[in-house]
Amino acid sequence: MNKINKKKDIKNYTLEELGKEFKKISIQKYRADQIFYWLYNKNINLFDDMINIPKKIRTVLQMNYYINQMSLEKFVKSKDRTEKYLFRLEDGKLIESVLIFSKNRITECISSQVGCKFNCLFCESGKKGFTRNLEVSEMTNQVLFVKKKLERFPSNIVFMGIGEPLDNYENVIKAIRIFNDKKAFNIGARKITISTCGIIPAVKRLMDIEWQVELSISLHASENNLRNILMPINKKYPLVELIKTCKEYVEKSGRQVTFEYILLQGINDAMIHADRLVKLISNFNSKVNLIVLNQGSHPMLQPSTPSQSLCFKNRLIAAGIPSTIRYSKGSDISAACGQLKSKHLKCL
Ligand code: SAH
Repeated sequence: MNKINKKKDIKNYTLEELGKEFKKISIQKYRADQIFYWLYNKNINLFDDMINIPKKIRTVLQMNYYINQMSLEKFVKSKDRTEKYLFRLEDGKLIESVLIFSKNRITECISSQVGCKFNCLFCESGKKGFTRNLEVSEMTNQVLFVKKKLERFPSNIVFMGIGEPLDNYENVIKAIRIFNDKKAFNIGARKITISTCGIIPAVKRLMDIEWQVELSISLHASENNLRNILMPINKKYPLVELIKTCKEYVEKSGRQVTFEYILLQGINDAMIHADRLVKLISNFNSKVNLIVLNQGSHPMLQPSTPSQSLCFKNRLIAAGIPSTIRYSKGSDISAACGQLKSKHLKCL
């Protein structure tokens, strides 16, 4: 809802919801398909430009709805081609998206909240606290904007920008439905990844959805004491409970879960940590992404050495857990994971 003119944001509806909305104001359901085409395939921002919608209906739409837009505040490109977009939302708040190019895919890393509540020790995104959830339209707009520039949609979407997607569950699920919709973005559910710090009730809710997106769990520790320090959310949703939920997710969905594990020198990168990790996750289908730390403002946290990282990875592989080491892209432009902290902090 736009607070000034009381109109509803038309990009906050899934196709099904828009059809129902239209019924209430006596517009035929198939008009929702047409509107989706204009909004998501043609990037149209004025109802009057939707030329196959009769003028009378356009006027009704104009009276009831508005089309949310955001503007580009800043654009930076890194040496490895990674691009960072700083967007200004309609209320002046700032969020970021990152575009990562690899051999056969273009991945957009999008934000789901302005700021973050969860305050993980290694992550810069939440250092200034939480402001608000993003609207559905503010998530799809991040991808629409990039599409305009690339002249195609990115092939993959990851919710690994600012915020915790499962703390904005309803809106994130709706945005995914729109990303997935053939009449909108047509991006396969398996090309969409939700990354979470481990909000157990929300992971459980995900199990009941008819399609499954990729699920990544930010784990980063294999014991409660350490995880409590690195990720305070662990005090509410402890490790063993979280792993139990992941196992259930795998069994119910038939999908694999990915565990993200930042290797921190002298903190979680010894062989004993690897062995504990194996013990925790070895009885269901999962893999581990070992992440090289992007150094932020915390002086105690250093990335593991390359040789230690390799030993850790080999230990997991020897125990039958598929593992890869992920080198972050875009670190020279502060676009890598955990660095999505705008320098315009006063606006956040
Ligand atoms: N809130 C979600 C998504 C945002 S973080 C989550 O916690 O998963 C996306 C990924 O970046 C997570 O795996 C997170 O743990 C990782 N990350 C955060 N800070 C990082 C840092 N400084 N270096 C490397 N990875 C980091």
